[in-house]
Amino acid sequence: RRGVLAEARTLPTVTVDGHPVDLLANVGSAADAGAAVVTAAEGVGLVRTELPFLSAARWPSVAEHLANLVPVLRPLAGLPVTVRTLDFADDKLPPFLATGLAGRLGRGLPLMLAAPAAFSDQFEAILRAADETDIRLSLMIPMVADVSELRACRKVLDAAAATVGVPVPPLGAMIELPEAVEGVEEIAAEADFLSLGTNDLTAALLGVDRRDPALTPRRTGDPVVLGAIAHVCAAGRAADIPVTVCGDAAADPWVAPLLIGAGCTALSVTPAVLDEVRALIRGLDFADALHRADRVLDA
Ligand code: PEP
Ligand code: MG
Repeated sequence: RRGVLAEARTLPTVTVDGHPVDLLANVGSAADAGAAVVTAAEGVGLVRTELPFLSAARWPSVAEHLANLVPVLRPLAGLPVTVRTLDFADDKLPPFLATGLAGRLGRGLPLMLAAPAAFSDQFEAILRAADETDIRLSLMIPMVADVSELRACRKVLDAAAATVGVPVPPLGAMIELPEAVEGVEEIAAEADFLSLGTNDLTAALLGVDRRDPALTPRRTGDPVVLGAIAHVCAAGRAADIPVTVCGDAAADPWVAPLLIGAGCTALSVTPAVLDEVRALIRGLDFADALHRADRVLDA
């Protein structure tokens, strides 16, 4: 079966009835990046950049960002790659941010916006690394709560691009907070793309801790969560921008058809299951996926 799946790597990711779905990879290391290329991902929908810094003693410098990023991006030359800025969330927080000042600043994006020099260093490093490795860069901001935060990020990005002397890449927002779903029309008007962080979004909408083992990717198929996702997809369509799913639900064989039926335009999954998800998309009838999503949304 593995061999049969590998043979399909040259085939387009379209449903049986011709509906295209972009198939992208989630990447956190150079090994993941290599696997994304081997399994013929069309691009990378999520590079997690915080992982090397989870035990950092201070904000990473431009050089430290570069040392981690360049080996991850190098195998991806020529491909569209979405790099996410540092996502120091509750479950991913280096010790120097867990106490003191950071404790008062909160987590995620508010923390980054409260540390503008550190934030701008990372933008600068990402722009330099992309330039050096010839990837087709997009930048993605995690934990966006509202449009004002995305505007603040765009300012930092514009300044960093001017410093490095490169064009400003597309900028996208992760939709993984219930507040972001509420204000998604405004966010979509300012963003070049949206990406659904279904791991955090599902936990928040169902009121479950994301570390709870009961929170499986399948819970993203809950009518409450799928309703929020369909709302985000409608906003993306109205603004004419792509809506990717980069949470684990994108690889769940029961939920992925619902995500496609709800209007998501791309799935980004761990390279280990990329072949399987390609087979799923190629075996899917889009009309049937629409119908299945409608039935859940009516529930
Ligand atoms: C998510 O929340 O679904 C996501 C993709 O980001 P992370 O798992 O890194 O929080
Ligand atoms: Mg998340």
